[in-house]
Amino acid sequence: MTSRNQQLFERSQRYIPGGVNSPVRAFKSVGGTPVFFRRGEGAHVWDADGKRYIDYVGSWGPLILGHAHPDVVRAVQTAAQDGLTFGAPTQAELELAELLCALVPSMEQVRLVSSGTEATMSAIRLARGYTGRSRIVKFEGCYHGHDDALLVKAGSGALTFGHPSSAGVPEATTSGTVVLDYNDLAGVRCAFDRFGDEIAAVIVEPVAGNMNLVMPTSDFLPTLRELCTLHGSVLILDEVMTGFRVGLTCAQGRYGIRPDITTLGKVIGGGMPMAAFGGRRDIMQCLAPLGPVYQAGTLSGNPVAVAAGLATLKLVQAPGFYDKLAARTLQLVEGLATAAARHGTAFCAQSLGGMFGLYFRSDLPTSYAEIMECDRDAFNRFFHAMLQEGVYFAPSAYEAGFVSSTHGEAEIDGTLAAAERVFSELGQKVTQERGSAQP
Ligand SMILES: *Cc1c(COP(=O)(O)O)cnc(C)c1O
Repeated sequence: MTSRNQQLFERSQRYIPGGVNSPVRAFKSVGGTPVFFRRGEGAHVWDADGKRYIDYVGSWGPLILGHAHPDVVRAVQTAAQDGLTFGAPTQAELELAELLCALVPSMEQVRLVSSGTEATMSAIRLARGYTGRSRIVKFEGCYHGHDDALLVKAGSGALTFGHPSSAGVPEATTSGTVVLDYNDLAGVRCAFDRFGDEIAAVIVEPVAGNMNLVMPTSDFLPTLRELCTLHGSVLILDEVMTGFRVGLTCAQGRYGIRPDITTLGKVIGGGMPMAAFGGRRDIMQCLAPLGPVYQAGTLSGNPVAVAAGLATLKLVQAPGFYDKLAARTLQLVEGLATAAARHGTAFCAQSLGGMFGLYFRSDLPTSYAEIMECDRDAFNRFFHAMLQEGVYFAPSAYEAGFVSSTHGEAEIDGTLAAAERVFSELGQKVTQERGSAQP
C-alpha cells in the first residue's frame, strides 16, 4: 500500500524540482520518502497519513514557541485583517525595530528583510560599500544563505549533498571570498597578514549550526573582533540561527562580542518570512536612501510577518524562558547520550540554549574536519528508526536540532524512551555484525 506521503512526493516531483522547495527537505541524505506535514501544534506535527511526531526541527529554527502558538496565530490574524501589505512604513515595524535594537545593543539601526539570505547578502554589500573593499572572509561549513558570494564551502544543504559550492556561481563572484577553517586562529591571522587591508568583512556564525553544531573555542570570536578592529574590516555575526535561540541576548551577548553588523532571521519572524540586518549607525547610514548602498524589498517589513515576530519576541522575554528551554534541551541531549552509552554506541551530544547537536563519534567535534568524521550511516539508521518511533529529527547528519518551549517533560520522556529502544536495536545489530565477521 502506498502511503499518502509517497503519493504526494511522486506528484510533487513532477512539478517541483526534486519535489521540494528547499533541498534538505528531500531526504536525499538519509534516503526514503520525505514526510509531508499537514498540521502542527506545539511540539507535534502530523503527516499526510495522520501519523504524529515529536518535532525537533521546528521549521529549521523559527518555531521557538512551537507550532501554531495561539498568541502568534492571533497576532497574525489580527494583522491580516488590517491589510496584508502596504509597501509603506507602519508603526508596527518601527516597534519591532526599536525592540530589536533594545535587545541587541550592538544594533543601533536595523533594516527588515524577508529571509536570512537577503539579510546576509545585504550585510555583505553594505560592508563592501562602507569599506570600499571587496574581499570577504568566511569559514568552511558555515552557511549564510544562498547568496553567490557566500555559497563557497557552505554548510547545511550544500554540505549534505557533498557540493562544497554550487554550479552557476561565476568564479569572479567568489574569487573575493577567502574560506578559512572554523576555530582556526592561525588561519585567520595568516589571512589578515596577507590581505588585511583588502578585507571588507568577516562573516561568521558565532555558534556554527549548519554543519551540525560546533561551538566556538574561547578565543575564536574575540580574536576575530580584535583583528577586524585592527584592520578596519567589518565583523558580521550571522545570528540568523542563534539569534533569540541560544538566549535573549543572542550569541553575541553570551560570548560578550560586539559585532559591527548582525544578521537575524528565523526566530524573529516567528514562523513568517522575516529577517533583519543591523549594526553600527555610521555603517547602516550608508544604506539608500541616506547613502550609496542600494537595498530594497517590496514585502520588507511585511505587517503580518512583523506581527508574528513581535508576538514571538514578547513571549521569549518572559522571566526564565531561556533557562527553562536550555534545561529541557540539556535533559534531551544528556538522556540521548546516556542511552547510547548504555548500548555501546559511539555517540555524544551537546546543547546551547534551545539548539543541540548529535554526533555519532566518541567526543565533541570542534572543527568541520571532525564533523566529517562522524558516522553518517549510523546517523541515518538512527534517524529512520526514530522516525518510525514518531520522533522527527532533521533529515541530515549535518544539521542542528531545535527544542521549543512547548516541548515538555512528556515529550522529552517519550523521545528518550524511543531512543532507548532504537539504540538498543542498533547496538544489537552492530554486535551481530561484529560477531558474524569473526571467524
Ligand atoms: C538559515 C540561515 C540562513 C539563511 O536564512 P534563510 O531564511 O533560509 O534564507 C543564513 N544564515 C544562517 C546562520 C542560517 O542558519
